[in-house]
Amino acid sequence: MEITRQKFLIGAASTLLIPAVEVAEARSTIITRLPASRVKRLAWTIDDGVSADAVGSYLDIAERGEHHLTLFVTSVYSSWRTHSKQISKLLAAGKIQLGNHTVNHKDLTTLNEQQIKKQLIGCHNFMLDEFGYDARPYFRPPYGISNAKIRLVAADLGYTVPTMWYGSFGDNFGVPEERIVRFARKWIADERILIDHCNRLKTQKSLNQIQAIMRSRGLHSVTLTEAFGKGFK
Ligand SMILES: [Zn+2]
Repeated sequence: MEITRQKFLIGAASTLLIPAVEVAEARSTIITRLPASRVKRLAWTIDDGVSADAVGSYLDIAERGEHHLTLFVTSVYSSWRTHSKQISKLLAAGKIQLGNHTVNHKDLTTLNEQQIKKQLIGCHNFMLDEFGYDARPYFRPPYGISNAKIRLVAADLGYTVPTMWYGSFGDNFGVPEERIVRFARKWIADERILIDHCNRLKTQKSLNQIQAIMRSRGLHSVTLTEAFGKGFK
């Protein structure tokens, strides 16, 4: 593991001498939805990790196996370490996938190049150390805000897929149950990437209702790698 990490740091140290917008756009693939498939599916993605209980509730959904989830890790939150064992097990089983959501969840447009790198590398190395997991190429800029410079810096680190979304459960910090369900009814559809958050424990009822809506529409959640394939960059 140490060798991989060192290699990565050496790679990351190469400076960007041609910061052209076109280069960033050529090297990054922004995604908001899944490629077409004969199977009806969506990607339920869950961000941040302020609440260890909330993280646990999603891991339990993945554990049951009906829905495969993609979790965008903000590594400063201890929830990820709290659930380290279960996360490693679910990763090995292909029931979850992790993406890079930086160390501190800062608006990357307010940071310089070195600071942006630090945010991405810090989170990358945390996942590598804790789970033996390389999350590339998927990253989600905090608040969904990025620009060509950020995408270029990220691409230089191997994070070539800024992962946006097409529909939200509107749940960041404590949205009422009825509203979560209303959002779920509105956005759950074929090929969508949906954004959700594990910052506050949802009621079991709202988690069940989200899944019931997916089921009634003939949909199940897959990880991004399941949808895009292993070689996707
Ligand atoms: Zn976030």
